[in-house]
Amino acid sequence: MEEKKTKRLSEIEEKEECIIVKVNGHGGFRHRVMEMGFIRGEKVSVVKNAPLQDPIEYKIMNSHVSLRRSEANHIEVIGIKEHLEQNKYKFNGTFSEEIKQTIANESKIISVALVGNPNCGKTSFFNHATGLHEKVGNYSGVTVSSKIGSFFHKGYKIDLVDLPGTYSITEYSPEELFVREYITENHPDVVLNVVDSSNLERNLFLTTQLIDMNIRMVMALNMYDELIASNSQLDANLLEQLLGFPCVPTTARTGEGITHVLDHIISVYEDTEEVTKHIHINYGKNLESAIDKIKPLLTQHKEIAVDFPFRYVALKLLENDSVTYKHLEKHISDTLLIRETAEKCRMEIEEEFGEDAASVITNAKYGFIRGALKETFHRNNDKKAELSYAIDIVLTNKWLGFPILFLFLWIMFETTFTLGAFPQEWIENGIALLGEFVKNILPAGMISDMIIDGIIAGVGGVLVFLPNILILFFFISLLEDTGYMARAAFIMDKLMHKMGLHGKSFIPLLTGFGCGVPAVMATRTLENPKDRIITMMAIPFMSCSARLPIYLLFVSAFFESNQGLILMGIYLIGIAFAVLTSLLLKKVKFPTDSDQFVMELPPYRIPTCKNTLIHMWDKSAQYLKKMGTVILFASIIIWCLNYFPTTNDEIQSIDQQIEMVQNQSYDNEEIKEELLSSLELKRAAAQSENSYLGRIGHIIEPVVKPLGFDWRMGVSILTGAAAKEIIVSSMGILYHSDIEANEESEKLIQTLQHHKDESGKNSMTPLIAFSFMIFVLLYFPCVAMITAIAKEASWKWAGFCVIYTTCVAWIMSFCIYQIGSLL
Ligand code: GDP
Ligand code: MG
Repeated sequence: MEEKKTKRLSEIEEKEECIIVKVNGHGGFRHRVMEMGFIRGEKVSVVKNAPLQDPIEYKIMNSHVSLRRSEANHIEVIGIKEHLEQNKYKFNGTFSEEIKQTIANESKIISVALVGNPNCGKTSFFNHATGLHEKVGNYSGVTVSSKIGSFFHKGYKIDLVDLPGTYSITEYSPEELFVREYITENHPDVVLNVVDSSNLERNLFLTTQLIDMNIRMVMALNMYDELIASNSQLDANLLEQLLGFPCVPTTARTGEGITHVLDHIISVYEDTEEVTKHIHINYGKNLESAIDKIKPLLTQHKEIAVDFPFRYVALKLLENDSVTYKHLEKHISDTLLIRETAEKCRMEIEEEFGEDAASVITNAKYGFIRGALKETFHRNNDKKAELSYAIDIVLTNKWLGFPILFLFLWIMFETTFTLGAFPQEWIENGIALLGEFVKNILPAGMISDMIIDGIIAGVGGVLVFLPNILILFFFISLLEDTGYMARAAFIMDKLMHKMGLHGKSFIPLLTGFGCGVPAVMATRTLENPKDRIITMMAIPFMSCSARLPIYLLFVSAFFESNQGLILMGIYLIGIAFAVLTSLLLKKVKFPTDSDQFVMELPPYRIPTCKNTLIHMWDKSAQYLKKMGTVILFASIIIWCLNYFPTTNDEIQSIDQQIEMVQNQSYDNEEIKEELLSSLELKRAAAQSENSYLGRIGHIIEPVVKPLGFDWRMGVSILTGAAAKEIIVSSMGILYHSDIEANEESEKLIQTLQHHKDESGKNSMTPLIAFSFMIFVLLYFPCVAMITAIAKEASWKWAGFCVIYTTCVAWIMSFCIYQIGSLL
């Protein structure tokens, strides 16, 4: 990040001089301040600025003016003294070329915020403009925090921010609050309002709120391709006249129109845009007269109009907006008169219209929108919408909806398994070759052991599952991009309500199949904090992709038929626990009703290859990164814990026996070989057991014994707390060492199938494998996810999650193993 050269005018010290670079804030404010002479390039000197003093006195264009601190905060300047010190130039009364250059450079940075409904293509726009790869998805709630990307356009540096999608900017959901705060606190130079042109009526609602806020705006009429395909007509030129800012048709998916938008952003920023004018939405006689009554009471308090225009504040007071009331109280000592007036006006309106004032305002906004669209928009009977509608009749049908959903999920899991098997085998062979290769070139010893048994076995064991993960994410990405994911949420809504969740919870839950961390973050789309907590507590039971390698390993090792079905069964058990958990929490902790389900159904879209690939690549990159860091590190530690201490009495005595056998001559060489290999095996087992890892395993063995697990499995479970993938790699290390003496470097699968315990019984049976998979499914998610829960909810909930899930896992595995053994 380059250093910011500008300061706020309020930060300039007394008797210093500075030059104005930018005036931030809404239109009304900028207009007023600029009228006073605060224009780019103008020199200002500070006459009086004591630290706590308000207002501050300035001299500009030879006249004295005073500004409040909060107002001066919105003016970006370059301090002349500071600038000279940095550049070591003498200031001789005229501006040096240097300063002019700096002003020119600094004022050529435009901050732009993307604001729009969920799913209108903001992230697609962002990706195209910045060349970054943020995730896009055909359902709401993909973007839950802001992303910044910078690029250059026609000599301007544009800092583009991708904000979460919202239907309005009031204060009902975290996204709305986030966007509102972003706009009022960061003051983007230009807001780029992205709208879905095939759904203008609803999208323009947010626009009307932005108009009220009097912000410099450009509109991207996105999804213009769909508008054209549907044979509808939109007169964009007339629309921009009506709205008072440029409206540019775009197709963010292909990048069409984006440069055009950027051109307009520059002209709006430079105040050279011809279209730009500030319009007032006419709210009708009653509302306007109410505004007229409240506004004069506000205008004496200039400081409240620094962040918002007076008209906007008046409207918000009529809406009974609590944030605005707080804002008032912060700036005005006596708000009684204002509150009483607003209250009185509100009552009058409510009496007149028979509904609350906020609804009256909303209706008036829709009236404005309908009016604007009537003049500019002509809808032809939309074949595509009809098609979407027809598809919906089938896919969200009362009877067909569920079977179809489950069919899709089944196909998804089955393909993940069967198709993934091919590349898996290639990778496996590659890893084996690599191990051989390293063995041949390195001298035998600790280093070679560490590389082969620690790093290659550990990381390799996880790398093998990359193809499966790619396939799974390919499907999830398809579901998202086609729009089916939103239908799935819709189908599930009733059911979700039954389990105490919100229809929208379905998406975080489904995301949980990928990774718990984004899933926990996606709960922000839920308006109600209680719903958020319940959903967060249910997410750990949605089996994340990191657990998939474990199931894949065990299912292919111990179950010959119906592999896809068993895999799906495990996922279903997880879902069942998610349901139980949320029901329980709902009953015990939050027995109030969940709010109404509102979820739009976007039209079905054919996903683009590029999007799907980006999505897949993102996930696999994350996976590979984890392998290069956490898993590599953990593999080495586990290997060390398993390698040291290298010897004890028992091992020494075995070593002596080995030496004896080697030195003795046997009549039959075969007998000697056999004796040696059994001794080697015994040695490896003793070594493993004597190691630190073995000792830890033995300590916890009493806890996992009733579940059918041996100490090796106990240790693997412990190591899985860091990241679930590590379970497979630690098993690779723990079991591999035993089999090596057997001189058959088999794959982990065969190792597990044939591994014997002390008494010679198979240490693993299908029953134990199942019990183990269930434990892995249910027990506490990785550290990363716990941290995410702590961040989104609290450490208390994170702690609860750890204890609760581990107890559930233990009890379930216990029941499975004990009951299974009886049968
Ligand atoms: P966001 O929620 O506003 O960030 O929207 P996204 O960028 O995630 O896009 C939502 C969906 O709309 C994705 O499936 C995109 O591929 C698709 N999409 C985005 N822009 C366009 C467009 O201009 N035309 C069409 N047909 N689809 C688009
Ligand atoms: Mg987005």
